[in-house]
Amino acid sequence: MAEKTLFEKICDREIPTDIVHEDDLCVCFKDISPQAPVHFLVIPRKPVARVAEAENSDQALLGHLLLTASKVAKDQGFAENGFRLVINNGPDGGEAVPHLHVHLLAGRQLEWPPG
Ligand code: 5GP
Repeated sequence: MAEKTLFEKICDREIPTDIVHEDDLCVCFKDISPQAPVHFLVIPRKPVARVAEAENSDQALLGHLLLTASKVAKDQGFAENGFRLVINNGPDGGEAVPHLHVHLLAGRQLEWPPG
C-alpha cells in the first residue's frame, strides 16, 4: 500500500492539527503557515493529488469542497466581509503538497493579482 500523504495523516488524526470542520468527505483545518488572519485548508479525505488529477467521478466531491469552504466561512462569521478560495496546481501554480487542497483566506484586504 502506498505511504500516506501528509494530508492523509492529518485526516486520520495522526498529526496534531487544528481541525475546524470534518465530515465524511473532507476535512478543514488551520494552515501551519497562515498567509492571512484566517487561512484554512479544505481537503478531500480521498487522496486526489491535484485538481488536474481529478476524474469525472470526483465531480460531486469537488463541489463539496467549495460548498464546505463557503459553509465554514459563514459559520465562522467572516463570509460577509469576503474571503478568497485558491487551488494551486503543479509547479508553476505553487503547489507544494500533492494532496488536493482549497486554501480559504480571509481577515484582511487581499490583493490582486497574486504574486
Ligand atoms: P500549496 O502550496 O501546496 O498550495 O499549499 C500547501 C499548504 O499546506 C501551505 O500553505 C502550507 O503552509 C500548508 N502545510 C504544509 N504542511 C502542513 C502541516 O503539516 N500542517 C498544516 N496545518 N499545514 C501545512
